[in-house]
Amino acid sequence: MWGGWERDADDVTKQAYRLNKMTNRWGLMGVATEETIMRVLRQHQAGNPMTADEAYETVARPLLRKCWGESKRGEWKTDPKNKCCLHGHYYGTMEDEQAAGAAITEQIKNCTQNFIERVLPRIGNNSREMEIQIQTPDLGGDPENITWNKVKMYVIPDYAYRIGNQMHIHDWKAGKIKESHRDQLAGYALWAEVKYKVPIEDIFLYVEYLNEGQVLPFQLTTEEFDVQKARIEASVAEMSEYLVDFDREKNEPLPKNEWELAGDPDSCKMCKFYELCREEL
Ligand code: SF4
Repeated sequence: MWGGWERDADDVTKQAYRLNKMTNRWGLMGVATEETIMRVLRQHQAGNPMTADEAYETVARPLLRKCWGESKRGEWKTDPKNKCCLHGHYYGTMEDEQAAGAAITEQIKNCTQNFIERVLPRIGNNSREMEIQIQTPDLGGDPENITWNKVKMYVIPDYAYRIGNQMHIHDWKAGKIKESHRDQLAGYALWAEVKYKVPIEDIFLYVEYLNEGQVLPFQLTTEEFDVQKARIEASVAEMSEYLVDFDREKNEPLPKNEWELAGDPDSCKMCKFYELCREEL
């Protein structure tokens, strides 16, 4: 969270920062899947196609082993920014580690196989020149962002490319189909409009459900885009309510006792900040 990396940050701020870096096994699976399929794409573009098994062994397995080990050994305690901490290990909620690991492996391989069979035929001929370079957090520096209505927003699409005046944006999903994914992609459309000045009629969005082997391709009408912009604006305004003096530029959070607890206690079970709220819940 805010300023948790500062040496003189108070203990709660440091704790919140450390907890915010936590992920869970599904998040890890998503990251491992994305890295695996991007390697498949790069190898395909280079004329060295890979099978799903080869890609899993080369990319996903080493990543999973590294992250799982760091989490089990608690290496994040001294380096929360760079070392993996899994919710299941931290809160002791992962009952059968072997079964969890096997399920992740199976799903990543299935996603990769579906990517090879159903997505690669659509995007495999893209040249690197067509692709938009996305500034991801692991590259260092400021991640991909836009400033919209005077608010800086981090917007990091998975994969985007130009065909003439058109912008095509794909989002990889290793998990379940959710209606909210359309809203997420609308945020990427805003990124394309603000950063690359692409009109909405030239923006093509694709939610790639890799585990199901399905794709949701869609475009937004001007009216739908306006509705989405209003939703994003409302969401930013709502978040500003948790800042001191609603001041987005200062970006200083209200003290912890002014934050409300979740209305539905069920949502706390999987929350990484549970430790901070435990006494009040
Ligand atoms: S109230 Fe529940 S959901 Fe909200 S931060 Fe605390 S543990 Fe998480």
